[in-house]
This record gives sequence, structure tokens and C-alpha cells, in this order.
Amino acid sequence: MHFTRLGGFDDDREVPIIVRGEGCHVYDAHGRRYLDGLSALFCVNAGHGREELGEAAAAQVRELGFFQAWAHAHPPVIELAERVAALAPGDLNRVFFTSGGSEAVESALKLARAFHRARGDAQRTKVIARRYAYHGTSLGALGATGIPQFRTQFEPLAPGGCHVPNTNAYRRAAEEDPLSCADAIEERILFEGPDTVAAVLLEPVQNAGGCLTPPPGYFQRVREICDRHGVLLISDEVICSWGRLGEYFGCQRYGYQPDMITTAKGLTSAYAPMGAVIASDRLAEPFLADGAMFAHGFTFGGHPLCAAVALANLDIFEREDLCGQVRAREGELREALERLYDIPAVGDVRGDGFFYAIELVADQETKARFPAARVKEIVATLPGELLARGLLTRVDDRAGDPLVLLCPPLIAGPEEYEEILAALRPTLEQI
Ligand code: PLP
Repeated sequence: MHFTRLGGFDDDREVPIIVRGEGCHVYDAHGRRYLDGLSALFCVNAGHGREELGEAAAAQVRELGFFQAWAHAHPPVIELAERVAALAPGDLNRVFFTSGGSEAVESALKLARAFHRARGDAQRTKVIARRYAYHGTSLGALGATGIPQFRTQFEPLAPGGCHVPNTNAYRRAAEEDPLSCADAIEERILFEGPDTVAAVLLEPVQNAGGCLTPPPGYFQRVREICDRHGVLLISDEVICSWGRLGEYFGCQRYGYQPDMITTAKGLTSAYAPMGAVIASDRLAEPFLADGAMFAHGFTFGGHPLCAAVALANLDIFEREDLCGQVRAREGELREALERLYDIPAVGDVRGDGFFYAIELVADQETKARFPAARVKEIVATLPGELLARGLLTRVDDRAGDPLVLLCPPLIAGPEEYEEILAALRPTLEQI
């Protein structure tokens, strides 16, 4: 099992088996119903039980089950690339498909290196990312992932990963300039030597560490810094695209133009495994010359079944205006979660769109942290208690503090917020 303590299951503690999904809910093998507070894993954006996505897959299999998208193409991959490029901001017009997020990040990092090399800058290989940020698990992407406990088992990693502070406003000293965390990127570029840095890799809202939103002006400052030093800006939107923040892409929400977007998960609402790198025309240019090649690929990149599902998923997004729904409703969801502030353990409720985290503290007034042993205990028991009250979500302590993550399907509404609160309130009161 992935990222799971394998010794934790025995006769008393069985593996939860989820057998069915419908809308914002899933059902386990015992017939119990749960609100899916995490869109499975930040990905079932359009909700469960969308039969038309299965029908689109079946229709595609009848026509063409598989053909590669290397030196060939097929209609669904052509149509999807056009559609994704049209939705992506500015000159992000080149789409390279993968089977998921780690492959997308891996591909973006390789594209950054290959781009610089093609322009005579082969020494630009380093990537700057933020502490505790999760960018995937393949060895290259893992070099950018800033979570020590996911790295040490596999060291040495691909060289070149450098880490800078994240944008945790709750833990920032009052006198600190909110944009100092952007300036830290420039300091790091200068420290490393600008001509050795290939790219800066950032999520619009950083998931690990608990929905760390950017302070106003952060990404504009980062863009200036990258431009000043010839460094590429990659927006890792594996979670933050496809409506999660109320726009097709997270960078649109915060008004910045990256050189590449990495995406996956919600592209198909997770009904088929697919990811992509969306790159600017400028980045593709060196590889369009006669005899040139981006020497990289995956058998299943642009799989016709996945592309057909993604197209049908985008039809749902358009028909139901899921991005607009999130923009219209995010205030309600935030307001519902902020009602929990009367519980002393609730330190911070933060996030944007349909993507929130609740940081738990020992003392709301002083923001005092729980001791490490208590954090361990909370993380071990809280998910089970929430599950017993019908809420499936994740409790995270990767940055040291316990966090409850909430990332419901984009179709959630007031009834679902109440269900979330009905499980959270008694559980957090106990803490
Ligand atoms: N990048 C970010 C920001 C992610 O959140 C994730 C996964 O959650 C990944 C990359 C890796 O994606 P995958 O699990 O599809 O390989």
C-alpha cells in the first residue's frame, strides 16, 4: 500500500474498502456511507458516479483502445491538447501528456534542463522549491519535494533540489514582511549562482503544511525575480487546477504567468490516470528545429481512453460551470469552517476555493503547539474518529503541527458543509 504503515492492519483493524461512490459520498464494503472530504486524494473534482465518463471511455475503446502519442497522434489527444492549451493562460500552448503528477513534474524538470542546455546554458540544473512542499515521488521530483521524512529512505536523490521558506502567514512573526518569503527565493538563487538555477517550482496554494496561500503580490514578485535571473517558473498545479481554486488554473486565481504548468488529478476528475505539462511556446521552440527532439516520453502519455475521459470531464465543467460554482460558494464553505473557531484547539482555518486546512493548536490565544507526542497521538486517532462520524479526510503533520485537510468535490453545497461540521465539531471538541 502507498504511504501507509503496513504493520497497522490486523484482525481488529481492517483495511477500509471503498466499493461505490455517488456525488460527494462513497460507501464501504459494509455499506457505510461517508462524505468524501478529500475528493478521494484531491482529485475527484466533478464528484463520484459520473456515468458519462465511463461511457466516454467505452465509446473510445470501441473506436481505438490504444495507440501511442509519440510519432503518431489520435483524435482525442489532439482535441484535448487544443482544449487544454486554449484554457491555459497566455502563451502556454504546448501540452505534453503523462500518466500522473509525478511524471508531469519529472517531465517539467527535464524540459527545464533541456531548454537551458539547448540555449547553451547546460549548467542550469538546480531547482528551487519550498520547505514541506510535495511535488511527487519519482527520484527527480523527489529532489524538489521538501518533506524530509519522504526523502531520507531513498537518498541520495537527484542533485540540485534547494529549499526555501513557505508562505505560512499563521506562523509568521507580525513584524516580518509578508513578501520576505518571495525575496528568499532571490537570495537562494544568488547563493547558488544564478547561472546554475534552472527553475523555481511552486504550487499556487501549497498543500503540505496545510493550504499555505500566497500573500498578495507574492507570485508577481517571484515572477520578477525569475525573469531577472533567467530562471523558469513552474506552477505545480497537480491539485490547484481544474476548478479547485475557482479557475481552470491556480495561476489564474493569483494573476501570474508561469513558463510551465504541471497538472494531473482533476484533469479527468481521476476517472482515468492522466497528467500533463503545459509549456510556453518559447520553451518548445528549441525542440521544433529540424533534427531536434525532447528525448523523453512515456508509453501511456496521451492514452486515448484517458484523453476521452478528460474531454468528457471538461464538458461537465463547462455545462455545470464548476469553476463558477466554486467561486460562488467558497465564501459559504469558509464561513462554515470558521464557525469552528469557538473550539479552543482550532488555531487557524486557511485556504482558498474548495481547498482548506485547519491547524490544531494547544492554545488558540498564544498559538502554542502541541508537544510532538500529542501530535503523534492526534494524527493516529483523529482520522478514525472522523471516519466513525462519517467523514473521510486526511490529518497531516508533515510540517510538525496537526492539520485537518478539507478538499471536497466541487459540487459540494450547504448540506455537505453541515455534514463536514457534524463530524468535525465533536471530534475537535474532544481534542
Ligand atoms: N505535485 C503535487 C503538487 C501533488 O500534490 C502531487 C500529488 O499529490 C504530485 C505532484 C504527484 O502526483 P502523483 O501522485 O499523481 O504522481
